[in-house]
Amino acid sequence: MSGRVVVIGLGPGPAEWMTPEARAAIDAASDVVGYGPYVDRLTLRPDQRAHASDNRLEMNRARLALKLATEGRAVAVVSGGDPGVFAMAAAVFEAVEEDPRWLRLEIAVAPGVTAMQAAAARLGAPLGHDFCAISLSDNLKPWAIVERRLRAAAEGDFVIALYNPASQARPARIVEAFDLLRTVKAAATPVAFARAVGRADETLTLTTLGEADPNLADMATLIIIGSSETRFIARDGARAWMVTPRAYGTRG
Ligand code: SAH
Repeated sequence: MSGRVVVIGLGPGPAEWMTPEARAAIDAASDVVGYGPYVDRLTLRPDQRAHASDNRLEMNRARLALKLATEGRAVAVVSGGDPGVFAMAAAVFEAVEEDPRWLRLEIAVAPGVTAMQAAAARLGAPLGHDFCAISLSDNLKPWAIVERRLRAAAEGDFVIALYNPASQARPARIVEAFDLLRTVKAAATPVAFARAVGRADETLTLTTLGEADPNLADMATLIIIGSSETRFIARDGARAWMVTPRAYGTRG
């Protein structure tokens, strides 16, 4: 039997944010490879083998998945959110050329709802116009690149979704990022901290770039920083909506 690898997005947390394709791919797997907490989220059958590992060992996980597939196993590699967004799909394809047998494997990617989409859905429509996603983690890229991209995104007036805002090793990074954005963008720019979206401890905090406390962000937080057009729509007795209109100026 020839093995295969499916790289699966589990969505941000709740079962209803996992696609039927992802669910079916997990059910069809003989082996599930992933970061411990994601593997723990799944209820596996006794005949399915779980290979949970530490978050920093992405490349090892990718190699393990490819190796198991060459042994004829049906492997599901799981990521939170979407597997193509700062997650395992890239690691699998970065590893795939290391062994000629791996290039002959059947490899598929099952998309998922990424954190940015889940957060946007809760907030209203903050990603309604041009936006970009930037990971603040400098484990895999130099901080100078992060700074260059933040500046360019701010100067381009994109809405910015910040992933991985809290570095345990370097907690000052998020403060530096906000300081940089404040040099380009207006203090009144709407900002949302969306924490643990879709989970029991979900928290949404609306603020402005001038007033935001970057230390609010932890590993489970996605930050959305508006463009010059983004605004809050206030509501009586309910959280404001955060909206980036699709048009500059009025449209008929
Ligand atoms: N592949 C994932 C992202 C992995 S990077 C995806 O597509 O969502 C991990 C970062 O994603 C976290 O630091 C946080 O910024 C964000 N994140 C993941 N799940 C989240 C959730 N439920 N709520 C808010 N942010 C989340």
